[in-house]
Amino acid sequence: MDSIIAIDGPAGSGKSTMAKLLAKQLSFHYIDTGAMYRALTLKALREGVDLNNERALSSLAEKTELDIINDAEGNLQVRLDGADVTSSIRTPELTNNVAHVARVGAVREKMKERQREIAKRKRCVFEGRDIGTVVFPDAQYKFYLDADFEERVNRRHKELREAGQEVSHEDISKDLKIRDHKDMSREIAPLKRAEDAIYVDTTNMAIDEVVDKLAGYIK
Ligand code: C5P
Repeated sequence: MDSIIAIDGPAGSGKSTMAKLLAKQLSFHYIDTGAMYRALTLKALREGVDLNNERALSSLAEKTELDIINDAEGNLQVRLDGADVTSSIRTPELTNNVAHVARVGAVREKMKERQREIAKRKRCVFEGRDIGTVVFPDAQYKFYLDADFEERVNRRHKELREAGQEVSHEDISKDLKIRDHKDMSREIAPLKRAEDAIYVDTTNMAIDEVVDKLAGYIK
């Protein structure tokens, strides 16, 4: 599968930034799979679906249309049933609820199906938690990005501040710890490094350095 680049890692490891820049450099599409789980969670919250009801979440996934669109600059637009929800899917409330939706096996199956469908039509950099392990185990290029916990908290803090959200360092640290734990310990498709993924610790690396390093592996 030489048309797929898989990038996995925890929140704040730099994977979104790198995936986007790498995709731009290679003229690939950038697919943020976290945005797909976020958009479905948004719909569940809007419709008052009980987040503990797996069956309801699975039937919601069945009847939901999700699109990830890249504009000419490589910026991402996320569409939920045709409506642009790009700016509504990054609130702390939503972030803290995604894990409920992401742990449901039938939801993940549906997402996997969609992601594989996208990959049939385009050359893509896919970014997420289970891309190299579950969705595209045969991807030719797999990376696992990581960074020290404190650095990941600082990055998240900066990102939220820039987006106009005032959240304390302490709250971010607490939320990130919980999210890491949920993502890494869930039964189905937990976040883990694929055995054949290249591990990159981005803690002390500048953005350009990481992109150059990843691009250096790609022939
Ligand atoms: O990447 P991002 O932080 O936006 O992802 C939000 C959440 O979506 C993650 O914390 C995780 O629970 C879920 N997710 C997932 N599998 C993926 C991508 C994201 O379970 N491939």
